[in-house]
Amino acid sequence: MHVVIVGCGVIGVTAAWFLARAGVSVTIVERRDGPALETSFANAGMLTPSLSSPWNAPGVWLTVLKYLGRKEAALLVRAAAFPGLLAWGCRFLRDSSSARHEINMRKNLRLCNYSIEIMNEISSCISLDFDSSLAGIIEVCRDESAMRRGRERSRFLGADEVPTEELSPGAVVEREPALDPIAGELAGGFYFRADQVGDAHKFSCVLARRAEENGAVFRFGDTVEGLLSARGRVRGVRLLGGEEIQADRVVAAAGSYTSALVRPTGIRVPVCPAKGYSLTAPMPEGLRPLGHAVLDDRYKAGVVPLGGRIRVGGTVEFTGFNQDLSPERVANLRRLLAAVLPRHADQIAPGDAQPWCGLRPASPDGVPIIGPTPVEGLHLATGHGHLGWSMAAGTGKALAQHLSGAKPDLPLSDYALARFT
Ligand SMILES: Cc1cc2nc3c(=O)[nH]c(=O)nc-3n(C[C@H](O)[C@H](O)[C@H](O)COP(=O)(O)OP(=O)(O)OC[C@H]3O[C@@H](n4cnc5c(N)ncnc54)[C@H](O)[C@@H]3O)c2cc1C
Repeated sequence: MHVVIVGCGVIGVTAAWFLARAGVSVTIVERRDGPALETSFANAGMLTPSLSSPWNAPGVWLTVLKYLGRKEAALLVRAAAFPGLLAWGCRFLRDSSSARHEINMRKNLRLCNYSIEIMNEISSCISLDFDSSLAGIIEVCRDESAMRRGRERSRFLGADEVPTEELSPGAVVEREPALDPIAGELAGGFYFRADQVGDAHKFSCVLARRAEENGAVFRFGDTVEGLLSARGRVRGVRLLGGEEIQADRVVAAAGSYTSALVRPTGIRVPVCPAKGYSLTAPMPEGLRPLGHAVLDDRYKAGVVPLGGRIRVGGTVEFTGFNQDLSPERVANLRRLLAAVLPRHADQIAPGDAQPWCGLRPASPDGVPIIGPTPVEGLHLATGHGHLGWSMAAGTGKALAQHLSGAKPDLPLSDYALARFT
């Protein structure tokens, strides 16, 4: 059997590695010149079962209305994006009922927790250096209402699934001394000890090399222009320039571009781009280095230590496929860094912080879309939204098991495209 994977982001490369290890012939086609150069490049780096809740929590429409047109808002919908968002947005709102939200959160949590297990399995199989940390993640809260929301979330997620420790302001600083300068501003926080941190781009580069050693073929710098179909099934891909690659199965793992790629087959994949920003700088010398990733409830973004670097990442903007770096959105992240680590922020010159943006492939119910489609031979691995790095290892393994005819450890039915039809 020969499998072609379109897209070498963190999702595509993980599936390629598992397939190659299982002895399946696999070709991965990526338009960029290396692995993970789009959305998987400079994400916030957190592997977070604790953030399994989809964005569309009950009452989300009030949040959208509140932030409408506010350029500094953590969640921003640009007017120009409205027409393209209509059908997706209706489904997004429909799935924000308490019952649907809980069902969808459980699906995400299962895949996130499974992925942490598989991540540990990968790390025990091959030596991986991707600036990872198993220290856990701390969320800081600045008022009692944020603490209340945190407690509600902990109950919602369940202590067995997401071990959580509530922290007093003093305990926050005891666990993360770099937060000492803001101790007086905190009402407390939460510690998620099972969450991890790592650089998705570095991870993808190592895994691509290892997959290649196991026989996977990487075609970097090649764009898939269309899918080859015959007698009702997909039989390969056609590259820009005309070359054709035959395959028994094609996996569309093209992130936010997956919908356009598969549309000619008649399949509608409801994934839309949700832009986010990050800012990466060297960890300032002479100050206590940050030891844990820190989430700030107020700013809806995280400050994350990655090796000798510090990365601030988050916020959501619906603005179509636009990938311009908006100065206001970058300024938001600088404000967040200053609010969490004021002394570190003071020492980072604007020119030393590298801004970046990427398009999260977001499904309307906040759950990824993985597995077969009604078109024989065509499979999907997209829609991971804000959790693609957290879910990559589990997605890759379960999909590879499914494609190679084994029973996936994690049934893929919860992630099927069929739920939208
Ligand atoms: C600011 C920000 C912070 C984030 N933080 C986190 C976090 O802390 N934790 C977490 O779990 N997730 C996080 N995410 C989400 C995560 O980064 C994404 O869910 C994940 O990277 C998606 O991976 P992917 O492989 O599906 O897509 P991508 O990484 O976008 O990969 C798709 C690939 O397909 C290629 N491609 C597209 N079309 C074609 C074509 N026609 N031919 C050939 N190649 C093609 C693209 O070039 C691209 O390389 C964050 C995202 C952002 C933007």
